[in-house]
Amino acid sequence: MAKTVTLIHGDGIGPEVISVAKKIIDASGANIEWEEVNAGESVLDKYKTPLPDYVIESIKKNKVALKGPITTPVGGGFRSVNVALRQTLNLYANVRPIKSYEGIYCLHKNVDFIIVRENTEGLYAGIEHMVGDDAAESIKVITKKASNKIVKFAFELAKKDTRKKVTAVHKANIMKLSDGLFLRCFKNIANEYNNIISEDVIVDAMSMKLVQTPQNYDVIVAPNLYGDILSDMAAGLVGGLGLAPGANIGDEIAVFEPVHGTAPDIAGKNLANPISAILSSIMMLKHIDEYEAALKIENAISKVFKKNSKLTKDLGGNLGTKEFAQEIIKNI
Ligand code: NAD
Repeated sequence: MAKTVTLIHGDGIGPEVISVAKKIIDASGANIEWEEVNAGESVLDKYKTPLPDYVIESIKKNKVALKGPITTPVGGGFRSVNVALRQTLNLYANVRPIKSYEGIYCLHKNVDFIIVRENTEGLYAGIEHMVGDDAAESIKVITKKASNKIVKFAFELAKKDTRKKVTAVHKANIMKLSDGLFLRCFKNIANEYNNIISEDVIVDAMSMKLVQTPQNYDVIVAPNLYGDILSDMAAGLVGGLGLAPGANIGDEIAVFEPVHGTAPDIAGKNLANPISAILSSIMMLKHIDEYEAALKIENAISKVFKKNSKLTKDLGGNLGTKEFAQEIIKNI
């Protein structure tokens, strides 16, 4: 029986990359029926909210979604749809694999690690207020429950993926209570996994180490904001945001989406690299046990990359989003 998956095109380059990802998944022979809904700017006028209830209901019903990026206005306007989705559906783990590919120019070769970012609290808890006219406070929330859950998730992922090491990232030297609690949870849980090396690194030092020797890392687990910043930086190490997939995982529900945003500077120009959306789709296919389809797409991407002549502009080529996707379909 076909698996029904919720499909959200999103804003900016979202519709461009999600529509080609869908085409590629369909070409791979995966047994999927799509339930297309939308969220973000395109529905704001009609529903008076960027996240209508029917979107949440569709994801709750189908348990799996593939989603494009959605605009979040800076410094005002509506609250982040992405953060709201993650919190409402308790998608507590944000999983972002970072990998270098043969044929693609990048700063480092042989990079292959996964960033596991806590997805529901930290500085994204949304607790902000003005103190008079001239001061503002953002409250960072770290709980034992969420920290234990994300650390456990990271070690289980390392075990399943036969990874050797889990590195916790924090700033517990300064935020002794909040990051201190996260670090204590990490150290306690690490004791349960004797076969996996555990270490912790302060976030500023980690930024340097990741740039210099990214090959030293396997699984990195971090509170929300550090995980967000490090994953964009890490994408830069292996070819950019066009190559960085992601998944938001909860106990029952999973939403797959590229790491990048709506890229307003290139939206509507057929310039976006759809690989992040396609790699996110591969993660989604594996999640629903469509391994054969996932492997076919993985092999096709690897063939196109190795030829190195037919790439999108961000990777040094001259193909548009659609033409590049067609090249992948030809290789499936
Ligand atoms: P961005 O990721 O959209 O863009 C950063 C830079 O990377 C831009 O120069 C862009 O052209 C480039 N880029 C991104 N994706 C690319 C791709 N697939 N191919 C080629 N180049 C690509 O980040 P931003 O400009 O800071 O954010 C724009 C909007 O996206 C904001 O409203 C932000 O809130 C939103 N956003 C949404 C999500 C999400 O929905 N999960 C994630 C991040 C940002």
